Amino acid sequence: MTTALTVADLTLTYPDGADRITALDHVNLTVRGGEIAAITGPSGSGKSSLLAVSSTLIRPDSGRVTLETPSGATDLATLTRRDAAALRRDHIGIVFQQPNLIPALTALEQLEAMAHLGQTFLVSPRTRRATRTHAQDLLAAVGLAAHAHKRPHQLSGGQRQRVNIARALMNNPSLLVIDEPTSALDQERGAEVIALILDMAHTHQAATLLVTHDHSHLHHMTTIHTMVDGHLTPTTPARAAA
Ligand code: ADP
Ligand code: MG
Repeated sequence: MTTALTVADLTLTYPDGADRITALDHVNLTVRGGEIAAITGPSGSGKSSLLAVSSTLIRPDSGRVTLETPSGATDLATLTRRDAAALRRDHIGIVFQQPNLIPALTALEQLEAMAHLGQTFLVSPRTRRATRTHAQDLLAAVGLAAHAHKRPHQLSGGQRQRVNIARALMNNPSLLVIDEPTSALDQERGAEVIALILDMAHTHQAATLLVTHDHSHLHHMTTIHTMVDGHLTPTTPARAAA
């Protein structure tokens, strides 16, 4: 069973007064299940735009974004809003810079809420128990077994980002998009979060797109790409150069 994200000749512009800004300029990229593509580049170069198009949050002007999941291949560039929402819920995990956790929910409940999204029928006690077990397992995997019943304000920044990552894994995503997950963390916490992402991407075999400025971990990535003015260029991996 193949899992992969393939971006082909992708172009995205935003309105800018009477003109348009080109955020993505004929971008090409392939990431397979279990691989991590790291994306670096200056602020405003188009990195977040690439993640937004890759995760169906924005429709591109032109090009193809094909996501292959165990349920088949889909062109994300032409989905309706409703189909895009369903695809995100079922197959895509999204982690932004700020965790965006719900203040009133415990860590465990943040994950459970994710699983019950979009369920219009009554959830059986058995399904609820299975969901809870899955959520507990994921919290344990990110090192938060002892913190499952804490609310966001009772957790540190690093712990909140771990909840965020665990939440993104609840639907066993085929695609994981992660945007500057360590920018609000100190060096050490940041390094731990990157190590966790490497571990999780490998364990879950998701195709992972990671925007990061943390150069200390780049040599662990499958591929490294640099975005400049909407152009994405592959960079020779550090280990190949060594
Ligand atoms: P990065 O993540 O590398 O900082 P972005 O993808 O956020 O870059 O932005 C790329 C370019 O698109 C920038 O020039 C930015 O100002 C512009 N941009 C981003 N989002 C929007 C938007 N919603 N409307 C208009 N311009 C935008
Ligand atoms: Mg950005």
